[in-house]
Amino acid sequence: MIEFKEVEIKYNDFTAVKSLNLQIGEGEFFTLLGPSGCGKTTTLRSLVGFINPSRGAIYVNGKDITHLPVEKRDISMVFQSYALFPTLNVYENIAFGLKVKKMPKEQIDAEVRAIAQKVDLKSEQLLKKVSELSGGQQQRVAIARALVLKPSMLVLDEPLSNLDASLRVQLRNELKSLQKKFGITTIYVTHDQEEALTLSDRIAVFNHGVVEQVGTPYEIYNQS
Ligand code: ADP
Ligand code: ADP
Repeated sequence: MIEFKEVEIKYNDFTAVKSLNLQIGEGEFFTLLGPSGCGKTTTLRSLVGFINPSRGAIYVNGKDITHLPVEKRDISMVFQSYALFPTLNVYENIAFGLKVKKMPKEQIDAEVRAIAQKVDLKSEQLLKKVSELSGGQQQRVAIARALVLKPSMLVLDEPLSNLDASLRVQLRNELKSLQKKFGITTIYVTHDQEEALTLSDRIAVFNHGVVEQVGTPYEIYNQS
C-alpha cells in the first residue's frame, strides 16, 4: 500500500501540493485527475523520488520512502513524451534497464521478447529505430521498457495524450487489460475525465494543489 500523509510540495515560495492525504491499495489502478497545473505531476514526482516534499511523508507498505533515492523505490515510470532513446532500436530500449542491472544476456533476450509480445510489438519491430515508429508503437515500447523491470509500482504521466483520438482509445483498452493481467499497482495522471472513468479503480480529483474528492468512478460521477 502507498500512503501520502500530510504531504506538502513547494517550488521555492509556491506551494504546488497542499497537505495531501492519500491511500492507494495493492494492485489498484489509481488516477490523479484534474486540470493542467493542479499538482498531479508534482505528486507523481514525489512518489518516484524526483522531488522532495517540504512537509509530510510517503510510505510504501509501512516503510517511509520520503527520502529514499529514485533507484531504490522499485517504481517504473512512463512519460507523456515517451523519453525513449531515439538512436537505439526497440530491443535496446527495452533491454536497457536489464543491462544496467547486469542480467545475463540470454535472460535479457527472453524477458525482452516476452514483454514485447505482451504489449503487442511484433518481433520485426524490435530491430527498428524508435524514431521509425508511430506514436502508438513508441508508447508500447515505453510501457514494455517499464514493465520488463517487474517493478512493484507503475507510474504513468499522461501517457496517451500525444496520440490521436482513436489510438488513444485503443491503447487505453490495452493498458487496462495489461494492468489487470499483471495486477501491478498503477498510478496514472490525466486531465481527461473520460480516460479516468474508463481506466480507474479509484480517482483523486485535484484542484489547485488540493485533493477535492477521492472515490470510485461511480462515486465521483454521481457526486459531481
Ligand atoms: P499538473 O501535473 O497538474 O499539470 P504540475 O504538478 O505540473 O501540475 O504543476 C503544479 C503547479 O506547480 C503549477 O502551477 C506549475 O506551474 C508549478 N510548477 C511545476 N513545476 C514547477 C517548477 N519546476 N518550478 C516552479 N513551479 C513549478
Ligand atoms: P550473442 O551475442 O551471445 O549471440 P545476443 O544476446 O547478442 O547473444 O543475441 C541473442 C539474440 O538476441 C539475437 O539472436 C537477437 O535476436 C537478439 N538481440 C540481441 N541484441 C539485440 C539488439 N540490439 N537488437 C535486436 N535484437 C537483439
